[in-house]
Amino acid sequence: MSDENIIILGSGMAGLGAAHHLHGAGVSSRMYDKNAFPGGHTATFAHDSGFIFDDGPHISFSKDPRIQDLFASNVGGKYEKLQAYVNNYYHGAWVKHPAQANLHNLPDELKTQCILDFIEASKQEVVEKPANYLEWLISVFGETFGTHFPAVYGKKYHTVDADQMSTVWMGPRLYRPSMEEVIRGAVFAETPDVHYITDFRYPTEGGFISYLKPFMEKTDLHLDHKVVAIDPVAKTVRFENGVTESYDKLISSIPLPDLIPMVKGAPQSVLDAAAKLACTTCVTVNIGLARDDFTPATWTYIYDEDIVFTRLSFPHKMSTKTCPPGCGSVQAECYYSNKYRPLDVAPEDLIQPVIDDLVKIGLITEDEEILHKDARLITHANIIFDLDREEALPIVHKWLDEVGITYVGRFGEWGYQWTDEAFKSGERGARTVLETLQAV
Ligand SMILES: Cc1cc2nc3c(=O)[nH]c(=O)nc-3n(C[C@H](O)[C@H](O)[C@H](O)COP(=O)(O)OP(=O)(O)OC[C@H]3O[C@@H](n4cnc5c(N)ncnc54)[C@H](O)[C@@H]3O)c2cc1C
Repeated sequence: MSDENIIILGSGMAGLGAAHHLHGAGVSSRMYDKNAFPGGHTATFAHDSGFIFDDGPHISFSKDPRIQDLFASNVGGKYEKLQAYVNNYYHGAWVKHPAQANLHNLPDELKTQCILDFIEASKQEVVEKPANYLEWLISVFGETFGTHFPAVYGKKYHTVDADQMSTVWMGPRLYRPSMEEVIRGAVFAETPDVHYITDFRYPTEGGFISYLKPFMEKTDLHLDHKVVAIDPVAKTVRFENGVTESYDKLISSIPLPDLIPMVKGAPQSVLDAAAKLACTTCVTVNIGLARDDFTPATWTYIYDEDIVFTRLSFPHKMSTKTCPPGCGSVQAECYYSNKYRPLDVAPEDLIQPVIDDLVKIGLITEDEEILHKDARLITHANIIFDLDREEALPIVHKWLDEVGITYVGRFGEWGYQWTDEAFKSGERGARTVLETLQAV
């Protein structure tokens, strides 16, 4: 193994993707993370109550056979292969996902208006370069569906109004049904599955982190090392615990708005641009129940503005080994952001409102036996694709290129990356670093 003095910041999917690639090339690396546990977003927490919850709900729906094989071999082939059943909750109605192709359970008047507007929208060309997400939604789905469903859910999830968002993040996330699908979905209760995630995998034992553990052996991992300063000229990284390390090459998966102020010499224009990058904060509330029969869904989207959570996932559906025998669990995601919807309570203060709202939507009963409850704060959850991002991001990335800091992952590239994409982003970062080393 050749010793090239490469430092990787962050032990999530991206940092581990970088370490995996370097190791495969016979190059050693050192990895540092501020947390006392590895894995970043993909960390898993096993509680004394017998319930296991991931940091946020995580499943692997990678379609890349190489990643599928890597993850499978990391868990010795012990993973669950599951079909997703996804539904929506809209003001008392349970609607199969995607709602636009499953209007059946909605009130007649709303359903009719959705169809009429969809017919109108279908007569027009889809706006090729929409000014914002709302314009795109209306052009694709029609006014009624666009404004009652994805625009409302988007505000709950991204914390910002649809007319303040760009459309660069969407990819296959929003399904556009044919006219036949809309009409059949309004008339028939049963419809074919068309969600972009139909089947997925999850480790049988130990939660999502099990997929990552063998990657951690491919680097020299140091936890409890919070970076507080980087000098890109002296090529040093200083940590909160007083340790300073030097590097030849630096790969970072630290969120850009946190990273830039720590880098010595960052110009004001770059500091200003980094400060404009916004992401959501998520409080996950984890509930363990004495039964497992309270929902047919793998996960559920919630549209109502007066309900505290945006999405519910059910870890016992991913693997029954995440709960004591016969038990079930709920992971509720509640979204905030410093820029648009500041969180003004402690995460624990959301536990009771989540339980109350689970009762309100009829998922659990008022006297439900609750065996576990806890709340976790995810400070950086999803990138907000507001209109500021498009202008600010190239300024930040250009400067990091100039000072030789390779940025990777969801919060380095500042994109809507899933686990496999973050891992591959880390691999790409490692490849870039190796190329520059060979060029010297
Ligand atoms: C609620 C939620 C649900 C999700 N569900 C799925 C899913 O089902 N499937 C899927 O494929 N993807 C899912 N994702 C996306 C997935 O979590 C990310 O794509 C991926 O984990 C990002 O990995 P990363 O390494 O880029 O970032 P992270 O995992 O955030 O890693 C960054 C690391 O940097 C460390 N760090 C930060 N600041 C410092 C510092 N100053 N000093 C030292 N270390 C620092 C952090 O502690 C962290 O470990 C979900 C994301 C969220 C938020």
